[in-house]
Amino acid sequence: MYDAETQTREPRPFATFERMESQVRSYSRSFPAVFDRAEGSWQYDKEGRGYIDFLTGCSVLNYGHNHPAMKRALMDYIESNGVVHSLDMHSRAKAEFLEALEGKILKPRGMNYRAQFTGPTGANAVEAALKLARKVTGRTNVIAFTNGFHGVTLGALAATGNSHHRTGAHMPLSGVTRMPYDGYFGEGVDTAAQLEQMLSDPSGGVDKPAAIIVEVVQGEGGLNVASAEWLRKIEKISHKHGALFIVDDIQAGCGRTGSFFSFEGMGLKPDIVTMAKSLSGMGLPMALVLVKPEFDQWKPGEHNGTFRGNCHAFVTAKAAIDTFWADDSFGAEVQKKGERLRKRLREIALQNRSVVKGVKGRGMMCGLDVGSGEISDPVVDEAFKRGLIIETSGAHDQILKVLAPLNITDADLDAGLDILADCVAEVAGRQALGSAA
Ligand SMILES: *Cc1c(COP(=O)(O)O)cnc(C)c1O
Repeated sequence: MYDAETQTREPRPFATFERMESQVRSYSRSFPAVFDRAEGSWQYDKEGRGYIDFLTGCSVLNYGHNHPAMKRALMDYIESNGVVHSLDMHSRAKAEFLEALEGKILKPRGMNYRAQFTGPTGANAVEAALKLARKVTGRTNVIAFTNGFHGVTLGALAATGNSHHRTGAHMPLSGVTRMPYDGYFGEGVDTAAQLEQMLSDPSGGVDKPAAIIVEVVQGEGGLNVASAEWLRKIEKISHKHGALFIVDDIQAGCGRTGSFFSFEGMGLKPDIVTMAKSLSGMGLPMALVLVKPEFDQWKPGEHNGTFRGNCHAFVTAKAAIDTFWADDSFGAEVQKKGERLRKRLREIALQNRSVVKGVKGRGMMCGLDVGSGEISDPVVDEAFKRGLIIETSGAHDQILKVLAPLNITDADLDAGLDILADCVAEVAGRQALGSAA
């Protein structure tokens, strides 16, 4: 077809997006295709080309694309003229989700929490959690950690470390004190002890916090893993100083690390847990704040939001819990798959020592540290050309992050990792040639 704009016959598949969509678009720049269909671990573009998905909507599709159980439940619900949107009125869909959450997730884990539905983004769940902690304690300051990512609306952004996102605010971000995450200064430096000393010192200069907010594994921050011991210290410090202990489980939760919550088995009892991303199981927007009953001190409507009653998301979220979390077997499978992933990443690291500095992460949330975006970006580009979708994270985009579906088949996982291995080797080879020249 002749294109009047470019005066050529070159097909321009992205013309509509380039003409109409804001410059702010980002993932589409890394993955130049127009996607059309998706099933399981695969996405297909308009031309029918398949890509193995190691990004899964940034851990939104932990059970893969269009899982049959969730699709069936949603189609049945739509067919029966189920309410689509209900504000926060009572709905059957919400009741059934809450019963599944209570009976299959919270009770078996000995957890007693109230569920607050917020606007459907992770950032809004974090906004609500921080507001509530400030309300409960009557304090302003919140402690967040280096490389933490908590969303990009102003309150959550204040807790986010990344300067690229922070400068986007174009106004002062206040009410948060930054402290070093576990391992930030390398092994042997106990950053929890530093925090404790600064908070205990009347001249330490850190205002008494309303909350300490932490990710158990930092997703966007570069797959940094906090030890159980460090997290227990942080929880203890929170309580000693009268602050609420908030775990942001938006990315690491919903099974990503091999258990429903990322902090299971660590002896932690967070006061507040934020959830979003994979919670609906099918990619429908949904966010949740779990609050210990004694801290549920909201006045009715005090944190509001129109889209807190997405019944389709409740239906698929319930189906996800019923399908995957009725017992411990899925978590055990995820742990096994995580070991398979880690083993192969270690092999890739050993075979490409000139560019790979190490393997990072936990469970099905692992990746390769290649030091900088100079190595990771060409790997992402090359992988995409060969049919693999994979993204980076970390302060310097230095982590190639594998966020495959948790239920990916071993064959698809291995096929994706084969592509990754080839691309890392290819970029390492180019690098060697470049430095020899
Ligand atoms: C993605 C993410 C958020 C923000 O969620 P949005 O839905 O993008 O607003 C908050 N915290 C963590 C840990 C995340 O990974």
